[in-house]
Amino acid sequence: MTRHYSVLGVGLGPFNLSAAALLAPHTQTISSLFVEQKPRFAWHPGLLLDDAKMQTSYLKDMVTAVDPTSPYTFINYLVKTKKFYPFTARGEQTVSRLEFSDYMAWVAHQLPNTQFDTPVVNITPHGSGFAVNTPHGQLTCDHLILGTGTQPFMPECAEPFVGEQVFHASELALRQPDLRGKNVVIVGGGQTGADVFQHLFDGEFGKVAHIDWISRRPNLQGLDENPFTDQYFMPDYAEQFHGLDPKVKHTQLAQQKLASDGITENCLQGLYQRLYHDKYVRRSPSWWRLLPGQTLTGMQSHPSGYQLTTTATLTGDSATVDADVVILCTGFSRALPQCLDTLRDCLELDDKDRPNVNAHYRVKMREGYAQALYMMNVGTHCHGIIEPQLSLAAWRAATIINAISGTPLYDIAHHHGLLDWTLAASTSSTAKMQKVAGW
Ligand SMILES: Cc1cc2nc3c(=O)[nH]c(=O)nc-3n(C[C@H](O)[C@H](O)[C@H](O)COP(=O)(O)OP(=O)(O)OC[C@H]3O[C@@H](n4cnc5c(N)ncnc54)[C@H](O)[C@@H]3O)c2cc1C
Repeated sequence: MTRHYSVLGVGLGPFNLSAAALLAPHTQTISSLFVEQKPRFAWHPGLLLDDAKMQTSYLKDMVTAVDPTSPYTFINYLVKTKKFYPFTARGEQTVSRLEFSDYMAWVAHQLPNTQFDTPVVNITPHGSGFAVNTPHGQLTCDHLILGTGTQPFMPECAEPFVGEQVFHASELALRQPDLRGKNVVIVGGGQTGADVFQHLFDGEFGKVAHIDWISRRPNLQGLDENPFTDQYFMPDYAEQFHGLDPKVKHTQLAQQKLASDGITENCLQGLYQRLYHDKYVRRSPSWWRLLPGQTLTGMQSHPSGYQLTTTATLTGDSATVDADVVILCTGFSRALPQCLDTLRDCLELDDKDRPNVNAHYRVKMREGYAQALYMMNVGTHCHGIIEPQLSLAAWRAATIINAISGTPLYDIAHHHGLLDWTLAASTSSTAKMQKVAGW
């Protein structure tokens, strides 16, 4: 039997979980269901490495920013799981990803509007809404919120070798590989590369023989976390960014890379102290190398493992590195999820096959289609570096819910940050006009 909902959500990562938690108190007026293919809530389970830390404050949880009185706050999780006082005595600003994941699972499994073990196979237009097909039957809705996340990115040259010994870091904790006595190459110099290096160094998967850590970046680069950088992660910046010219957005994003894509100070300090102790105090024979400024450009297999070719950014010189195991910490990419294949012809996509998302996260449809599809985490091209990040999860979900309900169910009017972006944005439109006018 087909069940009909006002709002259906596909995927239950943090972003749709926030929408589910904020819609839960309104189920009498806005019926909703959020379906997830996994049997239980799991947040990047292959990367839930022991003690890896969150890059964002636990106050930026699923609901607090727009509804601090919700039962689904991180603080309420601490109270209800009887660890509020021990938590406050930790003397730490950040929480581990394991603990934040446990909090999100606690939310997900008590909500009345979530359903697990329900992969969405395809979605088609259905009257003024959508039909969503799952192996358990069809669901229909007036509004659809897609929160299906990203896909692991593999460098092209590594793709033919992906398997038991060559894999993406997103599978590491799930595989629990036995790395005893192995020569391991880690590819990718961001936070994940650092977390993986640290865990291998500490022998979490057995005492490795040798680790080479290859990074295209010129050095181990820290996360830009100063309070003014943090202004990029606030609603007023996201709103003004959305209105910028696409070319301006592109240059802004390049400048802001380390605000979202660097390694935390804590992690860098921990790494440095380990390496200093190993090299200068214990005087261990060399068993690890950090290799910045090296891009992986080729890969071959040989009888006893793999040979990776790297190209130096500064000189263009090539070098080779041997490996028994290769762990790709090469990030995530965004392609339209497969379940949207049947809806593709209705979407207005740009030349890079990306959807165009308006200020309320509604996807622009082709002429003749008026269905209300909302998408989160579609890429930084619309709302900027904040898009794949948790900072605005609750605000973004509330923005969508307000747009769907047509009333301000949540007060998302916000105080402006300390920086006034309005002039910067208007200068950019003047520049755009000047360019158009040929000045
Ligand atoms: C290791 C790691 C650490 C991070 N740490 C931080 C941090 O500290 N702070 C921060 O701000 N950001 C962090 N991020 C970035 C961001 O918060 C996460 O990537 C976040 O998980 C994005 O949420 P999402 O809901 O878009 O997608 P996801 O978490 O990827 O969830 C998508 C869900 O959709 C489901 N799904 C997909 N297709 C279907 C389908 N057809 N049918 C049903 N279900 C489907 C998937 O199974 C999945 O559960 C981190 C990212 C990673 C990879």
